[in-house]
Amino acid sequence: HPERPNSRGWDLTHRPTLEALDAARGAHRRTRWTAAPSSSGQKYSRKDEHAPLEVKNPADPSDIVGQVRWADEADVQRALDAATPWSAPPETRRATLDAVADAYEAHAGELFAILHREAGKSLPDAVAELREAVDFLRYYAVRASDDGGAPGTWACISPWNFPLAIFTGQIAAALATGNAVLSKPAEQTPLVAARAIALMHGAGVPDTALQLLPGDGTVGAALTGSGRLSGVAFTGSTDTARRIRTSLAETHPPGTPLVAETGGLNAMIVDSTALPEHAVRDILASSFQSAGQRCSALRCLYVQKDIAPALIELLKGAMDTLIAGDPWEHETDLGPVIDAEAQEGIRAHVDAARAEGRLLHETPVPGTGTFVAPALIRVGGIGDLEREIFGPVLHVATFGAHEVDAVIDRINATGYGLTFGLHTRIDDRVQQVMDRIEVGNAYVNRNQIGAIVGSQPFGGEGLSGTGPKAGGPHYLARFRPAPAPMQGE
Ligand code: NAP
Repeated sequence: HPERPNSRGWDLTHRPTLEALDAARGAHRRTRWTAAPSSSGQKYSRKDEHAPLEVKNPADPSDIVGQVRWADEADVQRALDAATPWSAPPETRRATLDAVADAYEAHAGELFAILHREAGKSLPDAVAELREAVDFLRYYAVRASDDGGAPGTWACISPWNFPLAIFTGQIAAALATGNAVLSKPAEQTPLVAARAIALMHGAGVPDTALQLLPGDGTVGAALTGSGRLSGVAFTGSTDTARRIRTSLAETHPPGTPLVAETGGLNAMIVDSTALPEHAVRDILASSFQSAGQRCSALRCLYVQKDIAPALIELLKGAMDTLIAGDPWEHETDLGPVIDAEAQEGIRAHVDAARAEGRLLHETPVPGTGTFVAPALIRVGGIGDLEREIFGPVLHVATFGAHEVDAVIDRINATGYGLTFGLHTRIDDRVQQVMDRIEVGNAYVNRNQIGAIVGSQPFGGEGLSGTGPKAGGPHYLARFRPAPAPMQGE
């Protein structure tokens, strides 16, 4: 788009670029960042009853990344009292959001360092994440406007797995439409959120239009139960979205908007005409990139029976090439999962499969830090997956030559509808499957992760989200107040 080029990103195969990035990241190998509720400033005393908590690197618990002071009920009330919609004209909002995007790019080295050390993001993942954050800012900036009606106060509640991109995208959307934002990052990633907020304020977003409320499990509920919001932008698990919906219904006027982007049980079908090496490359990326901690990640692979033994052998070999380790290092493919609780839950799932003789393969990972070995588990079908396993675990099932329609029925029957992948070289099959599959984002002969703002808007249907898609032309409409009814209507 001539008005809004996507971020150029950083070419990690270009040695001078990589060296410049390494120098910029290197300055932050030992930096300790802080996060605190906006209203409290960044200072805390030792006597403070809410003493700050240490944030540790999930890959190396001896690495202290910083400190966070959680917001309490009084902080939430103060923030609600102070929140003031951003009344600057649309062109000012647009220029400011563009300036935030520039500031993010200028601080790339530091942001990468926090993403590695706080969120366990590998370098390619960190690069992709910053690009997406910058793209959201510039894309929504172009659409900043006044559409009548009075903007209000939005809560933006985000997950830890895209702690910069999703966090920024929600905020940029609500600010572009003139709302005040109370941003509640996930408990696991307050530091990158605090740094992002500082860059936004530094670029000119008013303090009262944007406030940070780091919280450890209670702040989100305090906001959504406050009765004082004009809307909520939420990305996270389907269970939490349900709780928020109930809380809004009990405490807010009917029709208070909830934009919810939630979990998935994502499948891929590989038929016997697929090119096996191509399919394996895309299965590997879809399942194990970001250690499987993407909402879009492939959870259940359906392989046509006649090619299944050979394809699974190829896949096992490919899994063994994955390098798990310190996300800071260039060669790392796979970082840790976000915390010990996640590690324990995923391991318990793999151990249960092992005990039942269904674990087909596992590749080794480091012993310290919250790493989980990439695993391949045999299942009868997607219906065997009781919930989203948010880690590097791929389930595999097989199907017969005439069962494609039945497989699609089973995938649709989960009720989720986020991403889907198909590998085939039969054109008619592409049409047949795409006509019937009920998901937000479907991909053919490629991996099924990594949407692109402006060209591949992202979002699910059914249990996976309310729509509209993030990074698409309709997203901002939900953040605008409904025009006042005409007299007599
Ligand atoms: P989560 O546990 O649902 O938490 C998400 C956010 O909601 C956090 O900030 C959390 O705060 C807050 N929260 C928790 N309980 C709340 C309540 N009762 N009221 C209001 N807010 C509440 O999800 P997560 O573990 O961070 O993220 C992983 C999930 O996100 C996966 O299911 C993944 O599929 C989904 N996801 C979806 C998309 C998408 O685009 N569809 C993208 C990324 C991730 P605390 O941290 O303080 O508890």
